[in-house]
Order: sequence, then structure tokens, then C-alpha cells
Amino acid sequence: MAPPNVDIVMADGRVSLVGAGPGDPELWTVRAVNRLRDADLVLYDALVDADALRGTTSAPCFFVGKRAGRASVKQDTINRLMIRAARRGKKVVRLKGGDPFVFGRGAEEALALAMAGIECEVVPGVTTAVAAPEMAGIPVTHRGVSSAFLVLAGNTGDVLDRTLTAVKPGGLTLVVMMGLAARDVIAQQLIARGWSPELPAALVCGASTPAAWTWTGRLDTVNEATPPDGLPGILVVGEVVQIRDALSAASLDRSAAADEVKYGRNR
Ligand code: SAH
Repeated sequence: MAPPNVDIVMADGRVSLVGAGPGDPELWTVRAVNRLRDADLVLYDALVDADALRGTTSAPCFFVGKRAGRASVKQDTINRLMIRAARRGKKVVRLKGGDPFVFGRGAEEALALAMAGIECEVVPGVTTAVAAPEMAGIPVTHRGVSSAFLVLAGNTGDVLDRTLTAVKPGGLTLVVMMGLAARDVIAQQLIARGWSPELPAALVCGASTPAAWTWTGRLDTVNEATPPDGLPGILVVGEVVQIRDALSAASLDRSAAADEVKYGRNR
């Protein structure tokens, strides 16, 4: 009689769901780097710096994310790969952009692993919801300006409407992810819901990468922005966007003041 087809469960196989931050490998956490160094297999998404990855780990690294024009590996297949490798005793790193639990399907993967009886840990990452505005000089909160922020997926229609029912127009900072293509529709929907067309707005694309690109304007002019193709980006809406200008004005003043000290006021 043929033996039943069961995988041998080895004690030390496990999966680490690791956040890789917004793109720049300098923003990987120490724990992320440790897990990569220790890994036997790495499955990574788009937006992860593949060269830095290969410089950090000697484990085989497989790209399983979406890339323009090519379908991504199915979620089911990724789950199966992780489960099979962990059952063979491998230390698997599943490296995901930003933070694994912020619109990253990380919790779906954690659930699939838990249901398969695989040991799984989550290593938090720097989320672009906060880091992308921040690297463009925009704080998501600022005392006296905004005391809350709402991170949304770029859905339009009923889903957005339902989310916005709970918040007062203009009372907080909105950070919209995966919403570049629908930015104008989203802006129109916000305006229809009572958000002021004059509210400051920003698009921040490719934050932390050499291709980083930022636009600032107003809610009613987001359709005029022309973000570069192929870069992920976020839309920020709220008074906090003005802090970017205040910061750059202040640093211009400071460098002018430094010039005065160096060269005298009336050069
Ligand atoms: N888990 C990720 C988000 C995944 S959803 C996180 O915590 O950041 C993918 C979205 O993230 C993109 O559509 C875009 O809105 C945003 N994003 C990812 N990398 C970015 C970057 N470098 N700059 C700006 N936005 C980015």
C-alpha cells in the first residue's frame, strides 16, 4: 500500500512576514535585516530593492509581486510556497512593501499560515502612509492643525462614501493609498461631501527612492498634477500640506542667514 502523502514537519521551519518600508533599504529595520541574513528562502514584492536584497542575504530570492504589464503570482500560490518551504524546515522571509499589515494582505498570509499550523511572526515596517508624506516635509498630524489622520485605500463610490460618513470634512488629514489613477474622482467625491475645494493637497510618488516626486496644490486642482508613470504614490489632503512650504521657507531663511554670517549682509 502506498504511504499517505504527508509532508514531514520539521521543528524549526517558520515564516517571517517582514515590512520593507517605502523603498530605500536604509529604512529596513534591524530585525528585517537579521531575518534576511538568517533566511533560507525570500519571497519579495515590487518596491523592494532587489540589489540590496541580494547583498544582504545568500538565500534564493523570488519576486512574487505585481510588475507593470505582468500578472502577479496568485496569493494562493504564494501561501502554498511558504507553507511547503516551512514544512521542510526552511526559514522563509516574506518581504512586503511598507508595513505588512497596512493594505499589504499580510494578515491574510498570517491567517493562511496559522491555519496550516506554521509558525509565523510579523516584523513591522515603515509604512508609506506616514513615511511618504513625511519625506516630502508633510507631517500627518501637527498640533493645532490636524490631530488625526485617516488612511484610505483608493476606492471610489460607495466604499469611500461609507468611510467618509464617519468624519467631519476637513477635520483631519486624509492619506489615500493606491489612489493615484482615481485621484480626480476621489477629489470630486470629497468636494461633493463638503470638503473645501481649497484644501491643500499633495501627491508624493516614489518616496525614499532616487525618483521621488512631489506635487502640491489644492483639492480642486489634483487633476492638473502629472505624476511620473510607473511610480507608486499617495494623495494627501489637509492643512498639514502647508507645513512643507513652511519648512522649506524656514530652511531657505536659515541658509540666507548662514550666508550673512559667512559673507556679511551687504556682499
Ligand atoms: N503595505 C504598504 C502599502 C501597500 S499598498 C505600506 O505600508 O506602505 C501600495 C500603495 O502604497 C501604493 O499604491 C502607494 O499608494 C503606496 N506606496 C508604496 N510605496 C510608495 C512610495 N515609495 N511612495 C509613495 N507611495 C508609496
